[in-house]
Amino acid sequence: MRAETVTVGTEILLGQTVDSNAARLGQVLADCGVDHYHRQAVGDNVGRIAEAIQLALSRADLVVTIGGLGPTEDDTTREGVAKATGLPLVEHAETLADLEELFRRRNLTWLESQARQAHLPRGSEPIPNPNGTAPGLWLPLADGKVVACFPGPPREFNPMVETWLRDRLASLGHPPLVSITVRVTGIGESLVEEKLRDMLDSPLATVATYAKTAEVHVRVAAKGLAAAQTMAEAVRERLGPNVYALGSSTLPEVVVARLCDRRETLAVAESCTGGLLGGAVTSVAGSSDVFLGGFLAYSNGLKASLLGVAQSTLERRGAVSEECAVEMAQGAQRAAGADWAISVTGIAGPGGGSEEKPVGLVWIAMVGPSGCVAHRSLLPGNRATIRERAVARALNLLRLALD
Ligand code: ATP
Ligand code: MG
Repeated sequence: MRAETVTVGTEILLGQTVDSNAARLGQVLADCGVDHYHRQAVGDNVGRIAEAIQLALSRADLVVTIGGLGPTEDDTTREGVAKATGLPLVEHAETLADLEELFRRRNLTWLESQARQAHLPRGSEPIPNPNGTAPGLWLPLADGKVVACFPGPPREFNPMVETWLRDRLASLGHPPLVSITVRVTGIGESLVEEKLRDMLDSPLATVATYAKTAEVHVRVAAKGLAAAQTMAEAVRERLGPNVYALGSSTLPEVVVARLCDRRETLAVAESCTGGLLGGAVTSVAGSSDVFLGGFLAYSNGLKASLLGVAQSTLERRGAVSEECAVEMAQGAQRAAGADWAISVTGIAGPGGGSEEKPVGLVWIAMVGPSGCVAHRSLLPGNRATIRERAVARALNLLRLALD
């Protein structure tokens, strides 16, 4: 089965409302194994709404509209559906009686315009709306296709699609479209794509790459869990140790989990990341079992007094150097009494760079039970992305050592 979404509302086109309903709908359709190839947005205009629905019906079996079902003149989705399908709007007696009853119960003034909400294209089944006045509608057409309409306010829309629509579509018995994210760090998107090239055209699953600031996500989507898992495992195998997780675990979560398994502790020493590394680790619930703490030594003075970096290192090699990074990590490990310590020192920019030490130069050092390593990176981007990437590099260095 193939579905198409038509979001109705000039406010969507003007960028005043973000189409969060369509995102929710997309998830429900995927869960129910309904293919979803197109999505349209159209303003509050009967003619254009009808056109959009007709186009959608020309290429989909199920057309789902969002919004424009209210009682006011600018709510014209029902008229648009009637025009697109050639079915007249007829008063739905039960819906009208329910509406009048609702107004009586709530002691609200009845306006004739309210009755518009009970005028449905002939053959429609109303969809109950527990949080509002306008019901949705499910309209089966003569050719077997269906138009389904839902109100726009998210507090009405969300429960209706999460319960009524989900149940209706689940009863069709399509295997769900399962997406698994293969999380990759330490290599760029182009290289990931190159390594996966033959898998990108697989008939068994959709494999697509997405570049994030400090990671690449490979989305594997297939009908049914088993097919998705098989393909995700194949991607993991192909990319090797650059894959840090399948699913939703983040890099800090993976690092904390590994440290927990090994019952080992961590301390950090940060300069250019200014606490972001410690922040990333402590964002993980339960990190207190393994994270002892961090040293935020931004100035040379604090690098010396807090972490014991030698004056001669700072003078001869500078704060952004292999030697300084190593001494920072050693100092943090010693002061905290940790099994592992990582340090980060670099130039996040935009100022402060030189030919010898350009913006983006970051030294990361790690000390652990088996000794000390230091890595030099030249990270692209602005201040914010350089810092975020430095945190990911540091965590990934530790993750690989914990394997
Ligand atoms: P109402 O009875 O409130 O008029 P309606 O079904 O006619 O409901 P709209 O008039 O299209 O719906 O939208 C009502 C409000 O719901 C909008 O002002 C907007 O804030 C929100 N809304 C509409 N469509 C969407 C959408 N696709 N995603 C998120 N919010 C939406
Ligand atoms: Mg409205």
